[in-house]
Amino acid sequence: MNSITAAAEETILRVQNLKTYFPVGKSGGTPLFVKAVDGVNLTVKKGEIMGLVGESGSGKSTLAYTVMGIYSPTEGSIIFKGQDISVPSSRRSLSVKKDLQIVFQDPGSSLNPRQSVRQILELPLRVHRIVDRKNIEEKVVELLRMVELPPHYMYKSPVSMGGGERQMISIARALATNPQFVILDEPTSALDVSIQAKIINMLLKLQEKKELTYLFITHDLSLMRNIATRVTIMYLGKICETAPTEEFFRSPLHPYTRMLLSSIPVVSEEEEELKPKKVVSTGEIPSPVNVPPGCSFHLRCPERREVCMEVDPWMVEAEPGHFVRCHLYS
Ligand code: SF4
Repeated sequence: MNSITAAAEETILRVQNLKTYFPVGKSGGTPLFVKAVDGVNLTVKKGEIMGLVGESGSGKSTLAYTVMGIYSPTEGSIIFKGQDISVPSSRRSLSVKKDLQIVFQDPGSSLNPRQSVRQILELPLRVHRIVDRKNIEEKVVELLRMVELPPHYMYKSPVSMGGGERQMISIARALATNPQFVILDEPTSALDVSIQAKIINMLLKLQEKKELTYLFITHDLSLMRNIATRVTIMYLGKICETAPTEEFFRSPLHPYTRMLLSSIPVVSEEEEELKPKKVVSTGEIPSPVNVPPGCSFHLRCPERREVCMEVDPWMVEAEPGHFVRCHLYS
């Protein structure tokens, strides 16, 4: 097998020039849109943990929901395992739905409070015919054990459980179909700090054991340092920078990335030395309905130049595997 074929086979998800716009009325007869995702290119390789990081409103969850088919793309394509799946979920094949799963941020609103845990876990098993009818209960017990919950939890309702336990049920439900790719949409940010580490460790163990690929959405860069294979930064609907994790933290290139990294608290002197010097942003995040021309970060960027206010930069490969979208490197 040549290296090009091998590399192509490694890619499980390829998002090409993806745009997801939402209409928000008109101004002087001109339609206005929130450009939540605006021309995103992203690849995720089989077996990796891709960390997708951005502030609130950066478009990272909209990107996830578009990949899942919850939102329809305005433009662009989503290629999953070599197949174009750029259509709403209702028009996707059962096998795509089986292989592509999501864990939502808030387990409280993603689990039906009127159903028992057994009913919640049974549904994907039946829809995707994972086991025979007679073996369903046994499989539900297996799923509960997988997320370290005792079998009697199958009779509970999600409302009688804590946030951490509800998220364990969400993880069990997502993994019930034996998926290959799981989107984790801030899976611990709604939980108590005390339970976050337990959930993260469980997710890592399951990823290794079941050879899963994760797209891990978060605003927590420190967490990505410890668990991601690669890190991607998103700002106002666009990707700013993507790099392998070690390279990303050793040599961040985009001014926005450096701004994010410079504000992470560190515990040791060694880490403090590696941290970029404090980068002071000069303005507010613009409204996503009215993104300025040129580089969307230019109103906040301490390194902006004349060209940044007029020309939207394009992605360049500054180092092998290290991509950045900034005029400082074009
Ligand atoms: Fe800053 Fe210009 Fe780079 Fe945008 S393109 S991040 S404004 S230097």
